[in-house]
Amino acid sequence: MSDSPANPPSSVPHRPMTPPSGGATGGSGSRSAFFFETVTRLPDSAEGKGRGGARYGRTGIIHTPHGDIHTPAFVPVATQAAMKGVLPETMKALGAQCLLANAFHLYERPGDEVLDEAGGLGRFMNWDGPTFTDSGGFQVLSLGAGFKKTLAMDVTGMKSDDVIADGKQRLAFVDEDGVTFKSPLNGSLHRFSAEISMGIQHRIGADIMFAFDELTTLMNTRSYQERSVERTFRWARRCVEEHRRLTEERTGRPYQALYGVVQGANYEDLRRHAAAEIASLDFDGVGIGGAIEKRLIGDTCAWIGDAMPENRPRHVLGIASVDDILACVENGGDTFDCVAPARCARNGAIFTRDGRYNVKRSRFRRDFGPLEEGCDCYTCAHYSRAYVNHLLHAREINGATLATIHNERFFIRLLDDIRASIDAGRFEELRGGILARFYAHGGRAFVEG
Ligand SMILES: [Zn+2]
Repeated sequence: MSDSPANPPSSVPHRPMTPPSGGATGGSGSRSAFFFETVTRLPDSAEGKGRGGARYGRTGIIHTPHGDIHTPAFVPVATQAAMKGVLPETMKALGAQCLLANAFHLYERPGDEVLDEAGGLGRFMNWDGPTFTDSGGFQVLSLGAGFKKTLAMDVTGMKSDDVIADGKQRLAFVDEDGVTFKSPLNGSLHRFSAEISMGIQHRIGADIMFAFDELTTLMNTRSYQERSVERTFRWARRCVEEHRRLTEERTGRPYQALYGVVQGANYEDLRRHAAAEIASLDFDGVGIGGAIEKRLIGDTCAWIGDAMPENRPRHVLGIASVDDILACVENGGDTFDCVAPARCARNGAIFTRDGRYNVKRSRFRRDFGPLEEGCDCYTCAHYSRAYVNHLLHAREINGATLATIHNERFFIRLLDDIRASIDAGRFEELRGGILARFYAHGGRAFVEG
C-alpha cells in the first residue's frame, strides 16, 4: 500500500478486533446474512429503567454481508462517502468497524445511480466493512421544515420562534405523502417520500438503512408530535413494502437490512406507542431518533427496549457526548453515530479521558507531548500538540487529519472499553471511573488557575 503523506500506514497500533470478513460484493442476497446475537446482558437492577427493573444494555454481534459489528460500537460518520481528511484504510487501522454515510448528500452529489454503478457505497469508497446510510429525512427536514436552529437538545430559554421558522423562510414542507424541498446546492426543487428514500438507499447499497421518518423538534406542539408519530408509522409501513419489492427486484446483491425509526420527542406515551408500532412491522432493527432532552435519553432507550424484540439491534441516531453514550448503552443502545469527533477536531477541539481542550490555544505552541497521554492512536504515537497547533493555525489539511484520527480513536476506544466491561461484569465500575474523570472539571481538560 502506498501512503499519502496525510494518512499513516495501516500498521497503526490498535486493540485487536475481528476484521470485517465479507468481500467487496458481500453475500448471496439472502436475508439470513443479517442477524444480531446477544453475547452478554447487563443484569436487571434497581436502577433499571425498563419494565420490572430491566436493563437492556448488552454486548452482541451484528452480522452483515460485509462482516460483523461487535456492539456496543461507535459508528464514524463519513457524510459524503468520506471522512474529511482521513482515508477509509486509516479508519480501519484505528479500529472503526463500520461507517455511516448520508443518503441525502449522496443523492445530491454524485447521485445514487453513480454509487449503484460503482457497486455500492463500500466499493465506491474502498471500504470493505459494514456500512450504514440514514434515510435523508433528517437533512431534508432540518433544511427547512422549519428549523432555524438545529435540534438543540437543550431548549431551555429558547422560544418557539427561535427554533421554528415562519412559512416564507422555509426550504422544505411536509405533507401526507412526503417532503418537498429546495436543494441547498442549486435551489432546484426536489421531493422525498418513503418510496423515493428506499430507492435511493437501495442504489447506494449500504448494509443497514433507515426508514424515512418525519423529524420534529422539542418546540413542536404535543398535537403536532402525535400527528407526526402516526405519519412516521404510515411512512414506515410504506418503507417496509417498498424495501421488500426492491429486495426481490434487485437480485444478485447482498441483503440490505432496514431499521424503523422511533420518534415521539420527550413524551413517554408517544415513544412507547411509536415503539410498539415500529415493533409490529417487519424491520431488521430500530433507530432511536428525534430530539430528546438529555435527562431522558436513557429512559427513552429503555421505553423502546420494553417494546422491541431482543434480536433487533438498536441504533441511536446522532449522539453527542460521553455521558449520553453511557446512558444509552446501559439502556440498550447497540450502535451510535456521531459527527462531533471529526467536526470538533477540525476546529482543534481534542477529546481526552479528562475532558476536552482546544489544541489551538497558545499554551500548546511549545508543548511537545502527545494530544493525550496514554492514547494509542497514530497521531499520539508520532506527533506533538505543538505540531498540531501549528498545522491548524497554518490551515494545513494535515492538522485536521491528525486531530480527527485522535478524536475518532477516542470514541472507538471508549466503546471498545465499554464493551469489554460489560462482558467482564464491571460496567458500573468503568462508567463511574469514566464519568468522574471526564466531568471532573465540567468536561474541560485544562482549567486555568
Ligand atoms: Zn491519540
